[in-house]
Amino acid sequence: MRIGRTLPPAAAPIYIRDIVSGLKGLFRGHRELNRFEVELKAYFDVKHCFLVSSGKAALTLILQALKDLYPNRDEVLIPAFTCYSVPSAIVRAGLKVKLCDIDPDTLDFDYTQLSKILSQALSRRDARPQSSVKQQAARNQQPVTSNRLLAIIPAHLFGLPADIQRLREMVEDPQVVIIEDAAQTMGAEWKGKKLGTLGDIGFFSLGRGKALSAVEGGIILTDHGGISDRIRHQIDEVQEYKILEIITLIIKGLALTVFQHPTLFCLPKSLPFLKIGDTIYDPHFKIRKMSAFQAGLTNGWQQKVEKFKKIRRKNAKHWASLLEEKPIRDYFFEKATVQKTHRTPITQATRLPDLLRFPVTIDDDGLRTRVLRKSDQMGLGVIFTYPDSINRIPELKQNYAEQDFPVAKELAVSLITLPAHPFVSEKDKAQISALVSEMANQESSVKQEPK
Ligand SMILES: *Cc1c(COP(=O)(O)O)cnc(C)c1O
Repeated sequence: MRIGRTLPPAAAPIYIRDIVSGLKGLFRGHRELNRFEVELKAYFDVKHCFLVSSGKAALTLILQALKDLYPNRDEVLIPAFTCYSVPSAIVRAGLKVKLCDIDPDTLDFDYTQLSKILSQALSRRDARPQSSVKQQAARNQQPVTSNRLLAIIPAHLFGLPADIQRLREMVEDPQVVIIEDAAQTMGAEWKGKKLGTLGDIGFFSLGRGKALSAVEGGIILTDHGGISDRIRHQIDEVQEYKILEIITLIIKGLALTVFQHPTLFCLPKSLPFLKIGDTIYDPHFKIRKMSAFQAGLTNGWQQKVEKFKKIRRKNAKHWASLLEEKPIRDYFFEKATVQKTHRTPITQATRLPDLLRFPVTIDDDGLRTRVLRKSDQMGLGVIFTYPDSINRIPELKQNYAEQDFPVAKELAVSLITLPAHPFVSEKDKAQISALVSEMANQESSVKQEPK
């Protein structure tokens, strides 16, 4: 166990003044929630916005609404490498998790595999003549179809933008809904567009390690009237936070203002029951309407988002330039940060995406283990990402006995991230840089030794 300065892998600072705003919000009640909603709609230029208790709660409600809308469909397609909350929400909504492997160069879907999955799904609808299906779709009724695919959920992992435009062009069935998992990218932009507004529906998380935090929280955005009506219907049934839960939120908020700071982060990190950094699969999470405390806590969020984004961008640039120097570059793929269609490495791109954490792969097991171990000892916040591919989660794996997702499986091992959040100081950066350079140099000299 380490005592002393310890960086969290990701963090959106919460200040005491935010907690005060939250408490004020509690007194303002609905007006506070309304304020947040109105601001979000204006900022993202969307027609409908819903506020709930977490990203996974948001996704569950979206899926339940879609299930209502298209009762003949029950499959949801997601990347085989993503946050465990995503399959948790799908199972919670009573739907089936379908997987597609990802592209190691982009962390987006493997589009070749995706195209096969889509055409297989589509071919199942041939039960009726094509024209009749088309006519009915045109009249906006539900055609009798055997396509079971309800939705696809591309994710902007670590802030790397998924190519939603390309996905949209590939999906031929107009009833398949694109749900944009923008949990990690609130306020991020790519090619002049705000992430979270590119799919039919998008959602953000306001959890602890995200771009903006309200202790916990989820935001749903959509322009789609029909879907939004159903979501509103679903949310009407959802409970408010109970008094005790609000008190817990306030206490957690206070704890975050104190213990998320690197000076004290070693404490919560050393207490295993806090489950800091654990990614768990669990469909039994609570679903609540967002409280006025959380809404109040976000007061001034636009400025906060911009400020944090600027700092993260500066840090990410630092990592990009460091990793471009040989020999480290040979060990870290910069491809994760390449947009496949353009093939421009991030280090040469005119502009970095708004990364939450800086993703890097180290293929060499020994080197990776040493970097991670040393980072843990020194409290540098360099950490692995998700523990395994989705098909290998013990509770789910019987569904994928015949399937293999090799890239997802490999990335669960080889992908690590460097911290980019606002608590990262110049000294931290120097230490991480030294660690990375030293290890990579050692490795290259070992490798270059003649046999
Ligand atoms: C965090 C996260 C979620 C879930 O958000 P919570 O607020 O933690 O429920 C979903 N998808 C991705 C990619 C995430 O990183």
